This record gives sequence, C-alpha cells and structure tokens, in this order.
Amino acid sequence: MGPKLDSAMLQNWNLAPFTYENPEGTTFFAPERSCLELADTPQTALAVSIARRSRFLSRTKEAAAGLDMRMLKTPVEGKFIDLRTVSAELPREQRWSLGNAVPADIDGVLFRPAERPTATAIAVLKGQALGRSIQTTHYRFEWNGVRIDRLYPRFSRERRRFLQRRIEMALSWAKAVWRAIWSRRPFTPRRSPTQRHTPEPRTRLAHWRGTGSAPAGHWTACHPSTEHIFKAEVTCSHGHRLTLKGHSISARGQVQPSVICRHPGCDFHEFVMLDNWSHRRAAQTALPR
Ligand SMILES: [Zn+2]
Repeated sequence: MGPKLDSAMLQNWNLAPFTYENPEGTTFFAPERSCLELADTPQTALAVSIARRSRFLSRTKEAAAGLDMRMLKTPVEGKFIDLRTVSAELPREQRWSLGNAVPADIDGVLFRPAERPTATAIAVLKGQALGRSIQTTHYRFEWNGVRIDRLYPRFSRERRRFLQRRIEMALSWAKAVWRAIWSRRPFTPRRSPTQRHTPEPRTRLAHWRGTGSAPAGHWTACHPSTEHIFKAEVTCSHGHRLTLKGHSISARGQVQPSVICRHPGCDFHEFVMLDNWSHRRAAQTALPR
C-alpha cells in the first residue's frame, strides 16, 4: 500500500471525513465511527450532494446563493460487506446497529442511498482503502432560498483562464494577418508598379548633402557603418522620412522593390532612382565623423 497510500493521504479531502467526525453520523454508522460515503455514478453523487446541501442550507435559512462544487473521482479497494438488500427506509437506530456489527478488519459497506434507492453507494471506514482522487467536472448549485432549483456544470477557474488565453491568442493572430494583408495593399493605387520585372524608375530623388533630414523628393546617405542595414534615407514627395531597410539599391542607384510610404494617408508608391548614388562615398568623407 506504500506509494498509493501516501499520495492518497496527501489529499486532504480524502482525510477530512476521518479527521472531523460528522456529529449526525452517517447512513450506517454512529458519529464515533467515521466514514466517507461515495456514490457509484456522477448522477447518484449529485442527487445525494444536492439533498444534503439543501438540508444544511434550509436549517440555517440561508439567503439565495450559488455554490461551486467539484466532483471527485476516487478509486476504492478493500474488503466490503454488501448491505444493498437493506431498505433505505429502515429507521436510523436499526441501520446504526447493523453498522455497529461490522467487524474492525472490514473496510466498509455497500448500500442503497435513500436519495436514489436504485443506485449503489459505498461507505468507506478506512483511508487506506482510498486511491488518489482526481478532480472532474465543477458544478454550480443555485440555492433560491428554499431549495436548489438549478444545477449546471461549470468550467474551473483554470480552465476558464486557459480558454480565455486561447481566444486572445487566436484574436491577436487574426488581427496580425489582417494587418499584414492590408499593409501590402495600397488603398488607392493610381498606378500599380509590379515587382516581377524591373521597370525604368519613374521618380528620381535628388541627393541631399546638407545637414539635417532631406527635404521632400530627396535622399540622404546613412553612415557607412549602418549602410548595410538602413541603406539610405529618403523623404517622400509629401515630406515623410523613410529608411530603405528592406530594399536593395543597385550600383546605379536603382531601388528595388518599389518604395511605399507607410505614413497614414500618404499615397506615395513609386519606383525610385537615387541620383548620385555611386558618388555617395565621396560626399560622405567630406562630412565630419
Ligand atoms: Zn509620404
């Protein structure tokens, strides 16, 4: 019983009934003989649980409330006496005297629960008979102040969080795809340059050798140490600055592919030629480092 017993014993819900005795006793046992009652099916477990919870809440005249309950599934193994022929209607004193006759080396009894007499329940007298419990469905019991009138399965908090994260991930992925599609499509293509072949550039940008950023329709060289990344900086005909990071520039200064200004509302989209590109170094060396 070594490892199985240890893991089951770590689960406090298995031990609770043996640690804290039920002052009202159980179906077959008086309070001083602690036991844990389990049902054979989820349906029976819910019927028993709802009946017990209702009794408890009506005694304290509890106001309307929702109760979250979790269903546990626990393997049971041991020596049990079958009391299923005993009627669930039998008075408590007679049931308790039957339970009192159960020998000490027996792990518990099988019986018919009063809440569902066609089902089987099991009263476990020893924690050692219990295997490791696993959590299954979570349920919400709705107490309306008089009775539990609604019952429905619920996702656990962990499951809800997991689903929320999956939904958020799917949404952000969809948004990214949507943005990627639209950023590749100019909204008002007056001309539609294609990148499949190299047409003669239609726009020539003049070389700006002054200080500060280039005025509209000009390009300016990057520092030689960053030129392999940023290539060159151009200013569109509407005055927006862009770097040609993703482009290639031929020895003649022809830029591939076409240059699209990403500035909101700007319709600049041209094949461009950088004037004086081959002489950029000469111009650069003149600049102070
Ligand atoms: Zn622009």
